[in-house]
Amino acid sequence: MRSEHLKRAEELILKYTEERTPIRFLTLLENFTSGYSLRALDKSISTGIVKNKSINHLIFVEDIRFFSLCKHHLMPFYGTVKIAYFPKKSLLGISKFVRIVNHFSRRFQLQEELTQNIANYLHQKLNCPVYTKITATHTCTLLKTSQAINFTTQVFVGDWFDEIRNEVISRT
Ligand SMILES: [Zn+2]
Repeated sequence: MRSEHLKRAEELILKYTEERTPIRFLTLLENFTSGYSLRALDKSISTGIVKNKSINHLIFVEDIRFFSLCKHHLMPFYGTVKIAYFPKKSLLGISKFVRIVNHFSRRFQLQEELTQNIANYLHQKLNCPVYTKITATHTCTLLKTSQAINFTTQVFVGDWFDEIRNEVISRT
């Protein structure tokens, strides 16, 4: 049944688009689904982790822009990511947060999954409490409703003290 539907989509595309549309589409699709393997990301992140002895307060990284593909409709959703972490033994360079967001964005997924994956990955690499919030517009919803509604998802991963967690909430 799934391949039947895909065949009908293929027929529509071939009927109403240009000769080179399928190859352009494939190239874009391959580019925007290149975030499944973690090997290159792990290598890059390992060079950005810095030992921490003295920093003992919340760190926020805000307004990281991203584009991803919704796995229900294969349509883009896009917006911004906000991350907070409370460092223990490790700090991470700012550009590496952008690298992580770019990497995990390049998958077919739900916004909820992207939010969770970024938080889990950072938690695993830094061994500290991590918060991730995503605010995004989904073009599938935009096309269906003509409304550019913002969806927000957020997750806390790791052991947060109530007081610090409340500080994060008060700033979001
Ligand atoms: Zn969708």
